[in-house]
Amino acid sequence: MSVPPPPGAQNTDPRRRIPRTDHLLAHPEIAAATATLSEHVVRDVVRAAQDRARSGQITPEQVLEEVLVALGGRPAASLRPVLNATGVIVHTNLGRAPLSAAARQALADAAGYTDVEFDLTTGARSRRGAGARAALLAACPEAEDALVVNNGAAALVLATTALAGTGEVILSRGEMIEIGAGFRLPDLIASTGAQLREVGTTNRTHLADVTDALGPRTGCVLRIHTSNYRVIGFTSTVPVRVLSAPCREAGVPLVADLGSGLLAPEPALAEEPDAATALRDGADLVIASGDKLLGGPQAGILLGRGEIIARLARHPLARAVRADKLTLAALEATLTGPVPPVLEALRTDSDALRERTEHLAARLGGELVAHDGRVGGGGGAEVPLPGWAIALEPELAGPLRIGDPAVVATVRDERCLLDLRCVPAEEDERLVAAVDAARALRGAAR
Ligand SMILES: *Cc1c(COP(=O)(O)O)cnc(C)c1O
Repeated sequence: MSVPPPPGAQNTDPRRRIPRTDHLLAHPEIAAATATLSEHVVRDVVRAAQDRARSGQITPEQVLEEVLVALGGRPAASLRPVLNATGVIVHTNLGRAPLSAAARQALADAAGYTDVEFDLTTGARSRRGAGARAALLAACPEAEDALVVNNGAAALVLATTALAGTGEVILSRGEMIEIGAGFRLPDLIASTGAQLREVGTTNRTHLADVTDALGPRTGCVLRIHTSNYRVIGFTSTVPVRVLSAPCREAGVPLVADLGSGLLAPEPALAEEPDAATALRDGADLVIASGDKLLGGPQAGILLGRGEIIARLARHPLARAVRADKLTLAALEATLTGPVPPVLEALRTDSDALRERTEHLAARLGGELVAHDGRVGGGGGAEVPLPGWAIALEPELAGPLRIGDPAVVATVRDERCLLDLRCVPAEEDERLVAAVDAARALRGAAR
């Protein structure tokens, strides 16, 4: 169906031939777009096309086509799925942990009304997120209780606020870390009103540095895992199991911020701390993220002694940082379901990865090269994960990023490297098609 020109279109000013808004909105295909897009979005698209015609960038006759193209297949949200071919498992810029199929299903199931805080048997209100709490305690029996909040930073703010108030938080100078994008944990702690009591030096902190600082103003002793860097050489830190006795004697909670979210030791990352070990070693409270090595949704996980968790849960701030139903559902399913993609990528067998990479490299006319994967923002700083990549012509990186599916590769030494570690094997055909499309795009641009 065409759109009639406005009355008086025979007038010489071409702008008078621009289709009117009400006529465009009544066009069946444009009207159908409101099934997936809000009316104001459709109106904005229409207005933008009319403006382009008004300013002479397109002809009035092109307005309808322009609107249909702009609306065609446009999803309501702009976040696009990406194939992560970087080999970096927990890539903060790419949304950290990809969820398992079980977690995706749980997310969809909880999206409508759900019994997140309701007992369907009795019809009474129930404890919020009881399923996620039970799953955490089952996965980490060393913890007496658990609390889930928005993210790791929120967990740290809640813990220091509730435990220290305006008192002191003792922290080693070797653990004053910046987690990324300019966010520094010492600043975060100071923003709560607590006093940061720095002890030791950048490379060495001894037990006496901590015990000398313990006093009536101490709110808690904090250990922060240096998850994104390493101090090597002449170094010394005080392990949790050494700190725990003096803290207990002084009646001061010992808090361990582990970052990565491993609940139990992970053989593939021997150096990475885990919640079970930290609690067994005497930490009173452990803090971790849900979307790093745990492989779940963005969340802050607090595990530890019953009375400490209860203190945090009672604090008014707990309400401001509480997790939503989608997070609780996805977290529970991550813990209850099969091995999540993050751990699968971490444990990838190098020989199997080589075979798959070699096969795809041959199909794509690329070269098989050794390429180390990385844990990324999730921990395992500087730990290389031996693996492989397909080396292609470097000009493909840009077209691959804007393709469908979008593919993010690494460009190094004049090569575009595709590392399959974090690309699900069932996506191999789509990856091949994406490379073909990127090459066609390059060819057309030439
Ligand atoms: C990542 C990290 C945080 C912050 O956690 P988010 O979930 O990103 O808020 C805090 N502490 C450590 C040690 C971390 O590695």
